[in-house]
Amino acid sequence: MESPRSEMMLIDGIWRNASDGGTVDVENPANRAVVATVPKATADDLAEALAAAERVRGSWSETNSWQRSAILRRAANNIRERLDEIALLLTEEQGKTLPEARGEVNSAAEQFDWYADEARRIYGRTVEGPLGSVRAEVRHEAIGPVAAFTPWNFPVMLAARKLAPALAAGCPIILKPAEEAPSACLAMVRAVADAGVPAGAIAAVTGDPAFVSATLLDSPIIRKVSMTGSVRVGQILMSLASKHMAAVSFELGGHAPVIVCDDVDVKAVAALAVRTKYRNAGQVCVAPTRFLVARSILDEFEAEFTRASAALALGDGMDGASEVGPLCSARRHDDFAALVEDAVSRGAVATTGGVSLREKLGGHFYAPTVLRDIPADARVLQEEPFGPVALLVAYDDLNEAVELANNTQFGLAGYVFTDDVSRAQLLSERLRVGMVGVNTFAIANAAVPFSGVGLSGMGAESGAEGIQMYLRPKTVVTGISETLH
Ligand code: NAD
Repeated sequence: MESPRSEMMLIDGIWRNASDGGTVDVENPANRAVVATVPKATADDLAEALAAAERVRGSWSETNSWQRSAILRRAANNIRERLDEIALLLTEEQGKTLPEARGEVNSAAEQFDWYADEARRIYGRTVEGPLGSVRAEVRHEAIGPVAAFTPWNFPVMLAARKLAPALAAGCPIILKPAEEAPSACLAMVRAVADAGVPAGAIAAVTGDPAFVSATLLDSPIIRKVSMTGSVRVGQILMSLASKHMAAVSFELGGHAPVIVCDDVDVKAVAALAVRTKYRNAGQVCVAPTRFLVARSILDEFEAEFTRASAALALGDGMDGASEVGPLCSARRHDDFAALVEDAVSRGAVATTGGVSLREKLGGHFYAPTVLRDIPADARVLQEEPFGPVALLVAYDDLNEAVELANNTQFGLAGYVFTDDVSRAQLLSERLRVGMVGVNTFAIANAAVPFSGVGLSGMGAESGAEGIQMYLRPKTVVTGISETLH
């Protein structure tokens, strides 16, 4: 058996080990073999990353935006050139299929392309106040050093969503990739650093997440915290950020409703929904989860959904025949299995799945699962399942569908399937979410904001809004003579 790869961290322009040599193991979720180790950052290592960020904050924010843009463009090109290498690491550690991994790396490159353009579009404005003798200008300045925390479900793309706008805005950024799947993210950071980002303006530190976050956010150097992950960790980071009043933005997951109206091509919508539901084994914050289906078409929808779910091929993401990979970790597998068991024990019916395939397939696999007749008190209706389960719920009229859709504290994505333009319009207005897909699940790309309401978080990533998270306004009011001499 091959010995595990030794990954390194990037601190002040140097790829290195932890100062005391400590490491953390990384597992392949498809076969549970240890495939890599990452350094376990010490307080000294983190202090060096912070000092380097502080040292370059002025020079990086003052770098001409056209220069920053050129660096980001090179970063996008480097990522694309290394796409195969990064995608293989991603599949090995995260479990998603290789085509999905390639798609993710490509989306990361798109973030850098998009923000290469946005870097040159940080516009201010001039405004007229009530007095004739002053002129006012509003400038947008880099907010300062950023601490970014990204999860394991899209370890490359979600890190790119923070690195690209932060660097475009002129902020140094210290990233902590998820320890469950760090290697692909570190390879992407290398591609970005190699594009010419100055030493200290980009760092990647690995290790114990609680220690890293508590140490970084204890420093007044950090002026912005951006995190994607669970509500639990978001709450911890928000309270740590309050110590020095660092700005925050969070993307904390969802529980997406899908309203399927009675006027659709039922089989076509079910087929599309199945293709989307099990992407990344369901570990997607905008995954369609609660299917609210008009009662008159529920049986047909359920039959097609169940048939297509049961037909999916599970296996190691490296195997070209696999359509769905394992869950990312033992913890994710067990938490997910417990949610399904809770629903079934309360009376929900699994029309397919409902079983772990860990014993059979060796990795953290769980069968694609469809549940119906789910009692209102089942935890899965309120907690984000983050795994391969579709919840089917019948509605009798569209007002009831809206009520069911909004009956959660999450509000990230929502979807509506109908051929009626008025229904589409009104339902998209009434869903309490940050993003609505009408007759599509493809709602996210680098050009449009990605954001949620309620427990789904605050702030936005991607789009023109994304860069604003790393800028702060500065007002300059200049007194002038009212006459021209
Ligand atoms: P978790 O909260 O235990 O861990 C998630 C990530 O947060 C880990 O990769 C870890 O690096 C990091 N983390 C943990 N403690 C931290 C701390 N104190 N400071 C900084 N980072 C810390 O969650 P989990 O068990 O991996 O997943 C549970 C739930 O999280 C899922 O059901 C899902 O709801 C949510 N989640 C959402 C997203 C998303 O894309 N929004 C991504 C991952 C997980």
